[in-house]
Amino acid sequence: MSALVTAMAGAFGADRIKVDAPLAPLTTFKVGGPADVLFEPVNSDEMLRALQVARAAGAPVTMLGGGSNVLISDRGVRGLVIRPRGGDVNAVGDRLVRADAAITINGLVRWTINRGYAGLEAWAGTPGTVGGAIFGNAHWKKTNIGDLVESVRLLRPDGTLLQAPADRMEFDYDYSRLKRTGEIVLWVALRVTPGSDPAALRLVARESLAFRKQTQPLESPSAGCIFMNPDPAQDRIPDGMAPSAGALIDRAGLKGAVHAGARVSSTHANFFLNDGTATAADLKTLIEQCRSAVKERFGVTLRDEIICLGEF
Ligand SMILES: Cc1cc2nc3c(=O)[nH]c(=O)nc-3n(C[C@H](O)[C@H](O)[C@H](O)COP(=O)(O)OP(=O)(O)OC[C@H]3O[C@@H](n4cnc5c(N)ncnc54)[C@H](O)[C@@H]3O)c2cc1C
Repeated sequence: MSALVTAMAGAFGADRIKVDAPLAPLTTFKVGGPADVLFEPVNSDEMLRALQVARAAGAPVTMLGGGSNVLISDRGVRGLVIRPRGGDVNAVGDRLVRADAAITINGLVRWTINRGYAGLEAWAGTPGTVGGAIFGNAHWKKTNIGDLVESVRLLRPDGTLLQAPADRMEFDYDYSRLKRTGEIVLWVALRVTPGSDPAALRLVARESLAFRKQTQPLESPSAGCIFMNPDPAQDRIPDGMAPSAGALIDRAGLKGAVHAGARVSSTHANFFLNDGTATAADLKTLIEQCRSAVKERFGVTLRDEIICLGEF
């Protein structure tokens, strides 16, 4: 670790890096241990340089966006955690917007609405950043973010750059090629429709926010859905049941179940909540309890939507 600290401090200055940096406050679950080294690059050049420095020091690299889909181990994350900050949104022609990885989805929604670009307004209220949304192909109702993507600027683990058109991103339910390749999102170009009335777009955004408030437990720290919904093509869903992870957990009798400071939400059984005292281990135990109960009761193996970082 000290080789990484020395190399990062040499490259960026000691004041730009944080050693043994608490990660829990940087996540929506508010649990987990520290990063060996945390670095917050403000542009692509810094991201590339940090990647090179970590490689030369033989340290693993983990990306962190808004921390809204991760469960970080109580033991933390080894090596370098890169959390991009800042960035811009720009119009490219009149039908594309380009957003840097660190831009929040909510910031992007506001930017497009204010300029009368339609396409992203219904995504209001989605936590996290553009980078995280592309990584897991974030979804809202029947749309995936990948459906709106024209291309993605990527940084490969070997430090080379690549512009991937949407059809090379392997977007699928909760999936993009980044889960396979370890590539880093630098920016994304998204398709929009110009010339819309901002007031009308704002109305759609407000409806989304209201729907979220009604259907999601937003009162306690969570990380959104823990499990992917089962796939009727490969999972045998019991007759008369929706292919929904939340419904299966509910029918297995675990809605509202508690383990130490971790709880299965009574509003939405695929949301797990931290009462303020939970550890990552508590949440993980409850996750595995639900997975086992659903497997035992219905024969369906729930797959993680949540990304676990660090050792469990
Ligand atoms: C209350 C609540 C509601 C939610 N509702 C939804 C919803 O409606 N739909 C939905 O899809 N999700 C939802 N989520 C989950 C979460 O908001 C999304 O998955 C979001 O896209 C994650 O983005 P992030 O920036 O927070 O990523 P993080 O949680 O920080 O990271 C997730 C993964 O992306 C990787 N990553 C982050 N940035 C980059 C980058 N630049 N390059 C490469 N990899 C990167 C990380 O390494 C990690 O593996 C919700 C979460 C909460 C807390």
